[in-house]
Amino acid sequence: MMPNHEASTSSVVSDDEVAAMITGKEGLRVLLQPQVDLLTGRIVAAEALARWQHSRLGIVMPAEFIPTVNRLGLDRTLFERVAQRVIDMLLTMRRAGIAIPVAINAPASTLSDERSVDFLLGRIHAAELPASLLRVELTEDQPIKELDALRATLARLEEAGCEVSLDDFGTGHASLKLLSAIPLSEVKIDQYFVTRMRRSAVAFEVLRTAAELATRLGWRVVAEGVENVADIPALRAAGCRYGQGYALGRPMSLEDLMMRLRVQRDGGEPLAAPASYASAWLDAFDPQDAETGLPVHVTTQ
Ligand code: C2E
Ligand code: MG
Ligand code: MG
Repeated sequence: MMPNHEASTSSVVSDDEVAAMITGKEGLRVLLQPQVDLLTGRIVAAEALARWQHSRLGIVMPAEFIPTVNRLGLDRTLFERVAQRVIDMLLTMRRAGIAIPVAINAPASTLSDERSVDFLLGRIHAAELPASLLRVELTEDQPIKELDALRATLARLEEAGCEVSLDDFGTGHASLKLLSAIPLSEVKIDQYFVTRMRRSAVAFEVLRTAAELATRLGWRVVAEGVENVADIPALRAAGCRYGQGYALGRPMSLEDLMMRLRVQRDGGEPLAAPASYASAWLDAFDPQDAETGLPVHVTTQ
């Protein structure tokens, strides 16, 4: 792959350090952030988010190193390492009798490369996992240079059963042409609109219209950056069935996610949050499940 030439945003880590972390054995961590069904409060999927455990600086966030990874042409190596880590996590979950799909982030340059798809499908096959447990999120940090190649690779993933999600919808490079050209199962509406919808009628209408478009096209709609449980009724009203954000669960270790999933599987637990927070949850999630009419158990972290 040709390296692209976006400037590094990082002032604290050198190119050499980034390259050593991506190609070496140490330093890369993968956290999982739950994705929640806003009608039931249940965790239905998770997103893998990379962290760099740096010996001198502590945790370095992706914004500090992903642009450098892409500029150095190491994006496919990162993808393969995160994908392998996610497959190992899915195997751990399977041993515990738990299965939820986990999404891996990747820019267009990675996903339009046949070798990324070969790697992912090969490893899923070797692990004997259902391909539906792996999803890819097309991040919108790069313009799409090779639409035909991207369309072909994403079609291969979809055919194999790996769903494709469009990340950061509304603030990135996605055009209506891209939306109609690639196979998608999900769009994630950028947190820009979610955080502004309360104070801006325009932001709310944009969010609602984007959700409606996606729903008409048969895609799941995920609201990103849900920081306030009080926003959940408005998000549901706007057509966002699913949400992700600090109010629903921060990026966490596999162990912590599995703990929440076990509690969910075993029928919920008493709310463990302070009373005011707990009552906001109860307001946000109807006490009865809209579909089944059964009581809904919600859990907080
Ligand atoms: P993203 O894929 O849109 O991921 C969501 C980001 O929003 C994550 O930031 C997450 O921690 C953060 N977030 C989640 N809930 C909230 C909330 O309620 N409020 C706020 N303010 N933020 C929230 P993070 O982990 O720093 O990742 C930033 C971006 O870096 C990701 O955005 C993704 O584009 C990229 N990234 C992360 N991991 C990987 C990776 O393994 N590979 C690639 N290529 N990119 C990655
Ligand atoms: Mg993402
Ligand atoms: Mg996003």
